[in-house]
Order: sequence, then C-alpha cells, then structure tokens
Amino acid sequence: MSVWDDLVGQEAAVEQLRSAARAGAALLAGDRRAAAGMTHAWLFTGPPGAGRSAAARAFAAALQCREDPPGCGHCASCHQVLQGTHADVEVVRPAGLSYGVKETRELVLRAASSPSGGRWQIVLFEDAERATEAAANALLKAIEEPPPRTVWLLCAPSPDDLVVTIRSRCRLVTLRTPPAQAVADALVQRDGIEPDVALEAARAAQGDLERARRLAADPEARRRRGEVLSLPTRLTGVAPAVQAAAALVAAADADAKATAEELNEAEVAQLRRALGESEKGRMPRGTAGALKELEERQKSRATRIKRDSLDRALLDLASYYRDVLMLQLGAPVEPVNGDKAAELRAAAAESAPETTLRRLEAIMECRRRLDANVNPLLAVEAMTLSLRTG
Ligand SMILES: [Zn+2]
Repeated sequence: MSVWDDLVGQEAAVEQLRSAARAGAALLAGDRRAAAGMTHAWLFTGPPGAGRSAAARAFAAALQCREDPPGCGHCASCHQVLQGTHADVEVVRPAGLSYGVKETRELVLRAASSPSGGRWQIVLFEDAERATEAAANALLKAIEEPPPRTVWLLCAPSPDDLVVTIRSRCRLVTLRTPPAQAVADALVQRDGIEPDVALEAARAAQGDLERARRLAADPEARRRRGEVLSLPTRLTGVAPAVQAAAALVAAADADAKATAEELNEAEVAQLRRALGESEKGRMPRGTAGALKELEERQKSRATRIKRDSLDRALLDLASYYRDVLMLQLGAPVEPVNGDKAAELRAAAAESAPETTLRRLEAIMECRRRLDANVNPLLAVEAMTLSLRTG
C-alpha cells in the first residue's frame, strides 16, 4: 500500500510525482542537484472525477513522508495528510462560488510561516479557478517569490482556467480520464463489487471513480440516472417536455441532497469527536460556534453540489446523444450507456446525425446558461423543448 494507490489509471502522473517527491527529499537532505526535480508551484489539471485533488493530496503526503521511497502510506505523517490533519498541509476548498482576496491574503501569510515538522509548508488549493481576479493577483505574488519551504498545489479543470501569469509559473501535472476497465478493476478489488456491475457503472460514470462507486453500490443513484436517460423517449409533446424538465431538475436535486447529507454527517461526527464530545453525546462548553461555522460552510457547499449534480445529469444526457450519434455514424466505439443498447438503436434509426448534433448543442447551451446563473428550471425547459423539436 502507498499514497498513490487511489490514483486509478494515472500511471504517467504518478511517475512524475514520485520522482518529484524523491527530488524533494534529496533537496531537504542538502542535495542541490535535486533542485531541478522539485519546484514550489504545481498545477493539477484533469476532467471532473479524474482525481485532481486526490493526486495533489498524495503528492503532499509524499513530500511530508520521511520513508524511502517517500509516500509509504502507513507512517503517521502519510496518515495525517490523507486524513486532512497534518499541521503543515492546509487544504483550501472554496465553499462558495468564488474565493476572495481577503481570504487569499490571509492564506498567503499562513503559507509563508515555517513548517512545524521541518519539511514543507504545503497549501493545497482545490478549485483554484474560483479565485477572483484580485485573489489571483495576491496568489501570484506568493508564487513569484516563494519562501524556501513553501509549496503550492493548485487544482483546476484545465490550465486555461487560470490566468496565464500563474499558469506559467506552475509545473503542470495532467490527469486523464481513467479507462473504464481500470475504474472497474478498482471497484472489484477494493469494494468487492461484481465485475459486470462494476464495468457497467465505470462506463456510465465516464471515468469518475467516486461516481462509479456510488452507481455500483447505491440502487437509488442508479434509478435517478435511469430517469435522466429516459428523458429523450418522454418528449412526445410540449407538456411532456415541460414535465420532463421539472423531473430532471428534481432528480438532480435529490441526488445532490443525498451527496451533501452523506458528506455533512461524516464531517459533523468528525468535528464533534475532535471538539471532545462525551460518550453520552454532550459537547464541552464553547464549542457551539465551531459547529455553527461548519453548518454555514456546509450550506454554501450545498448550493455548489446542487449545480454540479444538475451539470452531471446534463452530461449523462449528452452521453446518451453522443452514443446515438456514434451509432448513426457507424463509429466503432464502446457506448457509454451500453445498458440502453436497444433504445439507442431505436433513437439512431429515428433521426439524422444533424438532428443529434443540434440536440447535443442544445444541452451544451443549457450548461452555459446554468453557468451564467439562469434559473435552472427555465434553462432546462428551454433545452427539453429544443430536444423535442430536434
Ligand atoms: Zn509515509
């Protein structure tokens, strides 16, 4: 076991990070020749579900680990980093839709302090693309003149999501969408899921390990996905199209609620333990504020999970029309929604590739509108009406 185990299908990135971690250890040991292998700012990019923040976290653990090779996965330091309790690793997870300049300046100050464990002071910045322009400027100054022991690990979907001045100062770690078979193998080996269920879930999740795990293990999640994918066959008129839009938004909300509740419960339990909850479940004096603060953070995160969930439903829907298009073009690719083969064939026979392309464009337009904060129900209704006419 090592810290790299969770990075399914990311062999190239893992190799890059392993050797950087070795260079980091050599540098701390006074070997100046190792300097080129290590640097102070890293940018982890890759599609949703590829495991950007998991890769950054594994790298942080390897940098703090004193074993050889670093990143053993079983020492106290590795455990602390992976569990998020290491004193010299700060994880920044913007809870709202953007990250402001005041917070960033405070972060830059903290990042400049010397590491208490004597190795690196690491800041792992998830969703760095949410930094506002002013925040990005504050960040840039810190990256331009880094204190000798500070390491910035930024995560974003693609290099283009960050301003060029920051991007050009970071070493790039590119994660890819892991192959469905690699994700399926991981589900079989670690979660004991049946191979055929695992492969179907891995294909449906399009490389997102967490999503695949949820689909494989939770019948409700499978049912909600089925509902999303049945939408194309329900668009038989204007009224059904409007109803289908409402059902899609409701299914995405239900999915988001389930995800958020699972996260929230685990966090509250962890915080209560950390604050010294008694065996009878009573909390010590003066801890209400911390719990209240967590609740606030969770509320603002819930908004984001809701958006992400609707976006994923739209991507599921797009994958359906992509499968239809591939059939229409006779392309020899494995369908994402192999479990819907008969339906896909019927849909492919009923329309022309040009129509399918227009439908795909309607879905992408809906995603753009949601991104621009249009009311979700209105945006989705406009989309289902376009999907109906084709
Ligand atoms: Zn270790």
